[in-house]
Amino acid sequence: MPFKSDKGVKIEFLGDSGPFSKLGQSICYKISYEDSSYLIDCGAAVFSELTGDTINKLDGIIATHSHEDHRRWFVDIALFRFYVSKPQRHLRLIASETVLEEFVKTSRAALERTLSMDSRKVVEVPFTTFVDPVIFGPTANYRIVKTRLEGEEGTVWRVIDKRGKVVSAKRAKVVVHPEANRPRMIFRDFDTNRWVEPESYYPFNHKRFYTQDQNPYSDPKTGITFEAMKSTAWHGPFTTSVRITTGDEKIYFSSDTVYDPALWKDMATEIRPQKFDRSRKEFDNAHILYGEINDFIEQTWSMDRYERGMSLYKDHVLVHDAAGKNSIVHTDYEIIANSGHEKLLLTHSPDHFVSQFPLTLSGKSIRVIGGEYFEEVNGELWPFDADVYFKEFSHSFVGYKTRNGPYKVYVRNGLLDIVRSDAEFEGEELFKVALYADINGVYLPRIEDPKESYIRRRGRIFHVRYTKSGGKLKAMESIRGQVCKKQRNRL
Ligand SMILES: [Zn+2]
Ligand SMILES: [Zn+2]
Repeated sequence: MPFKSDKGVKIEFLGDSGPFSKLGQSICYKISYEDSSYLIDCGAAVFSELTGDTINKLDGIIATHSHEDHRRWFVDIALFRFYVSKPQRHLRLIASETVLEEFVKTSRAALERTLSMDSRKVVEVPFTTFVDPVIFGPTANYRIVKTRLEGEEGTVWRVIDKRGKVVSAKRAKVVVHPEANRPRMIFRDFDTNRWVEPESYYPFNHKRFYTQDQNPYSDPKTGITFEAMKSTAWHGPFTTSVRITTGDEKIYFSSDTVYDPALWKDMATEIRPQKFDRSRKEFDNAHILYGEINDFIEQTWSMDRYERGMSLYKDHVLVHDAAGKNSIVHTDYEIIANSGHEKLLLTHSPDHFVSQFPLTLSGKSIRVIGGEYFEEVNGELWPFDADVYFKEFSHSFVGYKTRNGPYKVYVRNGLLDIVRSDAEFEGEELFKVALYADINGVYLPRIEDPKESYIRRRGRIFHVRYTKSGGKLKAMESIRGQVCKKQRNRL
């Protein structure tokens, strides 16, 4: 049965869908602990989900990467905090070194120019007027800069070390792709002497490529700590996952990633020959190479990264992205569902999705207390004990196993789906279920008649039956207690 507690970490899911969701509810999680509150990413429609007061009180935004479905409202929040909020509070942006750079670049055009107070002049405003940028995670000891060489006109790309010294072309090079606006680095690994792309190859705890300090961000009031993790985040644009720890809780947000141990092992063991259209000597001496970086990379991941990646999820409540079959930059449901991680919540899922693990749908609140998680519904905490979770656009359902259930869950091609028990389907039947509507954790009988629906008004749920003259409203009470009890008695 439900219980009440305000302990632990509360996670409110303001959005949980991918970039092409017809609902536009992309990724944004509000994390509250004691009296501190943060957003992880800001891709959901923050202004319709949170009050101005809540936005003003946020202690910061943690950004995992700069895809639009995670970033879309950032500039608006920064402007709101500067121009509307009273008292005005500087917006803290917490991100890894690389993601922070990307946020500065992409937001500047919108933030840095405005009119003077009398509206008569166009004036410049620095990014830091709106945003207080904070790096979490270690910083790289080697970076690409544009520099002026002694006795030469103009600037060139070079890799420099921590002291600002240009690094030998035998150790590091800049690769410029003719179609890209940013150069990438290749680096000769200290141990194997193979050419690698350090951003992909080294884990954040690599002692020579990154600073030793892992540089976590701790909230000054409550001590809740956010750590940038790189090894498990394999997504294309530089992406960090986020580990949250308090005295009692350990939560891991995968962010967007391809979780695939078999692929990861391949990337850590496969050695590729370099492709040259020049001599080895020319390659050795060049500081800048023009072309495709993958022609020069000999190994994608280090064994260190693989091993660290495989160990980081352990013992955490895991909020993980999930997608259909053969996704390219996300995690296939089949792989994460069979990974052996038990405390798993799935997010970033497609609009139609069936899962044996809880789905973190927009509007839901979850409280993590110690190693357990519960759904918070009107101040009460409930276990997740359904056998299947089903999302169909903005509707969601839970299924409980019953011998003669009106629906059946089946698996095809590694994906689950649900049909009426008497329907034809191709695939393997897993079990039969009774389905209930799940409206932000309030369970109600599933509606079959298209002339009926549920609506929410001021926190209450009403059943509506549409008639020619309008609609008939009936206030509804959650049946989650009965549904859970039935489940317990059965076990
Ligand atoms: Zn995404
Ligand atoms: Zn992404």
